[in-house]
Amino acid sequence: MKKRILICKNEECQDEIIDYKSSKRLYCSEYCRNRDGYLRRQEDNKELIEINKGQKINYELLDRYAKAGIYEEEVSKLMKFGFNSKCLRLAKYYEINGRNCTCFSIKDILFEFDEEKNLIIIHKSKHKIK
Ligand SMILES: [Zn+2]
Repeated sequence: MKKRILICKNEECQDEIIDYKSSKRLYCSEYCRNRDGYLRRQEDNKELIEINKGQKINYELLDRYAKAGIYEEEVSKLMKFGFNSKCLRLAKYYEINGRNCTCFSIKDILFEFDEEKNLIIIHKSKHKIK
């Protein structure tokens, strides 16, 4: 029986794995195993850094709005100012005035993302006095 061709999972290598004992083998060498792990971690970090950066921009933007007393804005307008809806993390669900709302919080700001109306609604902020 012919052996299955295995390709090293390390993107930088992708060599055929020759002379393997187990068909579950993923890497051609210990070096490639470590290298791939390292590259994956770098990738995860990059994503995290991007998200944190996006969150920071989102916060600063919404904080400026709240400070100016504006609590509702179209997502498309916010996006022109750099708002990144991909960086919204950990949705929380609230019932506000009988509506089910998808909310997000960054620091002191709690805001709703109304996907139907494409609106961002700030419900809570240190600048918002009820
Ligand atoms: Zn390799």
